Amino acid sequence: MSLDVAQLRAQFPILQRQVNGQPLVYLDNAATTQKPQAVIDAITAFYTECNANVHRGAHQLSDEATRRYEKAREVVAAFIHAAAREEVIWTSGTTEGINIVARGMSQQLQAGDEVMVTEMEHHANLVTWQQACKAAGATLKVVPIHEDGALNREAFSDLLTDKTRMVAMPHISNALGTINPVKALTAEAKSKGALVLIDGAQGVAHGIVDVQDIGCDFYVFSGHKLFGPTGIGVLWGRKSVLENWPVWLTGGEMIATVSYQDATWGELPNRLEAGTPNIAGAIGLAAAIEWFQSLDVSALQVHEKALLTRATELAAKVPGLRIVGSSANKIGILSFIIEGAHPADIGFLLDRQGIAIRTGDHCAQPLMERLGVPGTARASFSIYNTLDEVEQLFIGIDKARTMLG
Ligand code: PMP
Repeated sequence: MSLDVAQLRAQFPILQRQVNGQPLVYLDNAATTQKPQAVIDAITAFYTECNANVHRGAHQLSDEATRRYEKAREVVAAFIHAAAREEVIWTSGTTEGINIVARGMSQQLQAGDEVMVTEMEHHANLVTWQQACKAAGATLKVVPIHEDGALNREAFSDLLTDKTRMVAMPHISNALGTINPVKALTAEAKSKGALVLIDGAQGVAHGIVDVQDIGCDFYVFSGHKLFGPTGIGVLWGRKSVLENWPVWLTGGEMIATVSYQDATWGELPNRLEAGTPNIAGAIGLAAAIEWFQSLDVSALQVHEKALLTRATELAAKVPGLRIVGSSANKIGILSFIIEGAHPADIGFLLDRQGIAIRTGDHCAQPLMERLGVPGTARASFSIYNTLDEVEQLFIGIDKARTMLG
């Protein structure tokens, strides 16, 4: 099966629109991806055909809603190779998933324990662990990166000790595109007895995630980076670990028995899912995954690589442009700065031409400081982008440079 990009684009209604009088060139996919018609249809179908609360009603609509919602959990479980459906906990996104794990961990951490993160963290996987460590009197260790944005493997090994209780790291950096060797790092961390959480926010949309193969204890991601809706995400956890994980929210759905003075908790997955869930979101995410799985993933990866290669070639020709994060093993993210031009001005002038990128610190302020840049302009590619759009980006950058003198 080869990739027909025109046919793929036709499935995304938003890609047909114009911005500032120009055809939209959407290159902000690391922030969120656009949604195919299949996802929009699945959400509409839920609300038009069987909207009801799940797990509760003694009526047909509730049964149908529950079936679609629980089927969605099975789709996610199969997609990431979970051992069981109850290992899939619905969250509002990556941030909430990390918070559930870190809150639970902070009850187990003691003074002197260590948690390891990396210099390339998104704030979601930094601030959360930083605060958990502060609350417990534990030490947060930060694994350095090399200048090209690759993780310093030697430093990782050196910093890992038998006091390391948790290693939390990104599968892929949102600011630089670096792909971390999470399987090898997980094996090393687990050999020291640490738990491992992988922030998969950027990992899920660029290939196949196999949590068994990685060997981690937790893998978290957001639906909206995987062509699904916002407000829905997944915390996957190994059953033996999740079963005893401290509960996060209390309320309806998550209990077994309740008296005025006490309560006992239900089984997984419900014990970590209090309250009415984002039913339409879960159904929309499953539709996104089924849609994604209908594509030839190796063809998608070849296409994304071609976009990045062409962008990197064109970037080399722009006077004063420096790519921030140039490690060999990266996804289609081009973070850059241009001498004498503020990233925000580049972003503004590209937007005038219908080209959407992101500028700023990418929720990674300490990383920007570490790399000595105030922020970057970031073009992030997805499977529906074309080589022609890459050319347009650089025509746009040339115009912006001229305007900025
Ligand atoms: N981690 C990484 C690597 C991310 O790219 C993002 C989203 N930019 C997050 C965490 C947070 O995801 P969300 O805002 O969907 O919770």
